[in-house]
Amino acid sequence: MKDKIIIKGARVNNLKNIDLEIPKNKLVVFTGLSGSGKSSLAFETIFAEGQRRYIESLSPYARQFLGQMEKPDVDEITGLSPAIAIDQKAHSHNPRSTVATLTEIYDYLRVLYARIGQPFCPECGRPIKKMSLEEMVESIQKNAAKNKSAYATIIAPIVRGRKGEYFQLLQNLFEDGFGEVRIDGKIKSLHERIEMSRYGMHTIEVIVDKVLASDQTRLFEAVETALDYGKGLVIAAFANNEEVLFSSHWTCPHDSFAFPEIEPRLFSFNSPYGACEACHGLGRDFFDETKICEVCNGARLKKEVLAIKINNKNIHEVVSLTIDKAYEFFAELDDVFSENEKNIAKNVMKEIVSRIEFLLEVGLDYLTLNR
Ligand SMILES: [Zn+2]
Ligand SMILES: [Zn+2]
Repeated sequence: MKDKIIIKGARVNNLKNIDLEIPKNKLVVFTGLSGSGKSSLAFETIFAEGQRRYIESLSPYARQFLGQMEKPDVDEITGLSPAIAIDQKAHSHNPRSTVATLTEIYDYLRVLYARIGQPFCPECGRPIKKMSLEEMVESIQKNAAKNKSAYATIIAPIVRGRKGEYFQLLQNLFEDGFGEVRIDGKIKSLHERIEMSRYGMHTIEVIVDKVLASDQTRLFEAVETALDYGKGLVIAAFANNEEVLFSSHWTCPHDSFAFPEIEPRLFSFNSPYGACEACHGLGRDFFDETKICEVCNGARLKKEVLAIKINNKNIHEVVSLTIDKAYEFFAELDDVFSENEKNIAKNVMKEIVSRIEFLLEVGLDYLTLNR
C-alpha cells in the first residue's frame, strides 16, 4: 500500500468504473487516443482528490477562502499524497509579457527610472540637467568666483542657426527695452540698423543684463527674464570670455534635443509615449516578425528613453540581465546612490529586490528579466 496509489471505481466523465494501481516514485505516463479519459483520470480524479484532501486538512479559517471542492466520482483512492498539477494550458499569449512584466518588476523599474534616471542626450551623449532658477543663480555665482569675474553677463538665446533677416524680431527686442544683441557671436547695438544676409544662417542672442554676481536680486531678475526670452535657455558669460549655458527643461544645451517630461509611462513599451515608433514596442520588424527591429534593435523603446540611465545602464540593459546578475546590479546601487536618491528609491527598491529574491529562491537565476 505504501508504494502504490490504488484507485477503485473511477467514473469521472468517460471513465468506465476503472480500477488501477500506480507505482510511487516512478515516472508514469498515460497514453491513449484523444477523449479516452487521460485527463479525466490524471487531473479530474487523482489530482482533484489529492487537492481536496489537502484543503480538508487546513483550518476552517483557511478553508473559507478556498471554497469547497467536489469529491470526484470514485469509490476509493488510497496511498495518495498532497498533489500538484502542472498542465499544458497556455494561459496568455501576450507577445509583450515578460518575466519582468508578469512579476511587476517592470512597473517598479519604470518608477525607479522616472525618479532617479539620469538622462543623456541621444544626439551627443552629454548628460542633461534640468535646473531651477535658484540653482542657476547659485551656479552663476560659483562660476563667477571660479572665473575671477565680478560681473556676469546674462544672455538669452533667441534664434539658433536659422535663415532670415529678422528685422521685426530685432525691432521687438528694441521696443522691449533691450540695448544690445549678439549676432553670430558679435555684439551689436539695437540703436543702430543691423543688416543680416537673408540666406545666411544666423544665431541671435539678446544681452539681458550685466550684473554684479554678488547682487542676488538683480541676478535673479536677469535670469528670469532671460529664461522667458530664451524659452528655458540662458547663457551666463564671464570676464574671461568663459560661458555657461543653462536649461530649465530636459533639453540638451548643445544641440537643443528636448526630452519629454520624464515619467513612468515613458518607459513602457505598451504606451505610445515610450514605445519604439518603428515596431510599436514589439521589438520585431513591423512587417516581418522573424526580424529584429532595426530602429531599437529589439529594445522596444524610443532612443531618448534608452538614453536615460541608472549606474550606466538603461532600462532595457537592466531587463536583459539574468536574474542573478540583476540582483547584483540592484545590490550595487546602494553604493552608487546619494543619500537623497536612497530616500527617493527606498520603497521601490524594496519591491524590486524582494521579487528578485523570490525568483532566485525558486531557482530561476538563469532567466533574463525580459524572457
Ligand atoms: Zn546633445
Ligand atoms: Zn523598434
